[in-house]
Amino acid sequence: MRRPSLLALSLALALPVVGACDEALPTDPAPAIETGAIAISGAWAPPQSTLDVAATQYVPVVDPPAISPLGHCTSTNPFACSCTHPACTAAYPGTAALDLFLRQRYQYLSAGGLYCCRQNSAQTSVPKLSVHAIGRAIDLMVPMTNGDADNTKGDPVANWLVENAEYIGIQRVIWDKRYWNGQRGFGLLSSASLPHTNHIHVELSVAGANKQTPFFTSGAYNNSCTAHCEGTLLIKANCSATDCANTGAQCLRGRRPRARAPPPPSRRPPSRSPAPRRRRWRRSARPRASCT
Ligand SMILES: [Zn+2]
Repeated sequence: MRRPSLLALSLALALPVVGACDEALPTDPAPAIETGAIAISGAWAPPQSTLDVAATQYVPVVDPPAISPLGHCTSTNPFACSCTHPACTAAYPGTAALDLFLRQRYQYLSAGGLYCCRQNSAQTSVPKLSVHAIGRAIDLMVPMTNGDADNTKGDPVANWLVENAEYIGIQRVIWDKRYWNGQRGFGLLSSASLPHTNHIHVELSVAGANKQTPFFTSGAYNNSCTAHCEGTLLIKANCSATDCANTGAQCLRGRRPRARAPPPPSRRPPSRSPAPRRRRWRRSARPRASCT
């Protein structure tokens, strides 16, 4: 994740509140990719900066139901869309929107598919539906290098998704033999799972799939933001977002986030933030006045 430079911080302190925000930019242009593919031996290895932000992220994971007893599949191939189940549903609006956003931001990615009423490809004792079957999963194909995962291309995408998991509503990311889970953090895939070296599997939370997270409600996903406060986030017209803790009291008077939106992420360790202590959004809080 890009961090503000000292110059940017100095300028921010000298500007009015709306100009004072230069924290993590969820819709920054995609980082430049160095030429020359790199297949790092072993699994996806996020840098310490990603691990630090990931430690602040929590997204409820809601998995699909078992296939039986309400449904059945006519093929044992987990990739055959051969199942029927009342829970199967086409891609949610947030799923489709994030798929488009990511393929525009990282143009070397190609579409790997969204909806398919099928069972989970990981072999489990009780077969259950894939998250693709319930409309909340995206596969993004990453060109391989020498038959292995290209970490130069795949890692920036996977890292960015984890760093912005609460902001977007990401409940799980699977890439290059490793996963990130919104409740349990990072882990290695079991031998019963595909290694995911040629594609990144992304799952949205229920709120994300329904476009109820700040990434969608701010308009950041289609670059159509208007400057406003959202919960404890300040969204600027260019779709950059910053924690209100960095902007002072004006932003803290912002309106309450939508009822089902998750708390915004904490993007900066307390020791690095000279701003007043941030107020945490609480579901029971009374609506506050709109910010101006
Ligand atoms: Zn997938």
